[in-house]
Amino acid sequence: MIEIKEKAQFEKAIAKAQAVKPKTHIIEAGRVYSVESSQGDEYQVTFFKLNGVPAFTCTCKAHTGSAAPKVCYHAVAAWSQHRVVKAVHKAAEASPEPFPIPVATCRFCKTPSTVDSTGLCNSCAESELFS
Ligand SMILES: [Zn+2]
Ligand SMILES: [Zn+2]
Repeated sequence: MIEIKEKAQFEKAIAKAQAVKPKTHIIEAGRVYSVESSQGDEYQVTFFKLNGVPAFTCTCKAHTGSAAPKVCYHAVAAWSQHRVVKAVHKAAEASPEPFPIPVATCRFCKTPSTVDSTGLCNSCAESELFS
């Protein structure tokens, strides 16, 4: 069971998702979802395994501009969509999944990884583009 350390942040994201009720679309069932923000922007939430642990990343600023991304409401919305899909496939009750951990995304190459204070992963930060 994964514990989200900042529980308040997590609850905030749930509350916001319930208030905004963002539109979610399945891009790749079980993995990639797009979520419409309250401003009408589209963000992409990707669920994956990081060293065997369920994780997710999002294309919003909280994930592309932060080395320690938090749970955003896009992820909560995408996760509920994900759960609906799983319920349809009758797998939901058999294995209730913990909420995945948030992972930073490099703002340049969009790869989920640890990023520096400018939002770049190691390889992008070291590339000539940014030196
Ligand atoms: Zn997000
Ligand atoms: Zn990168």
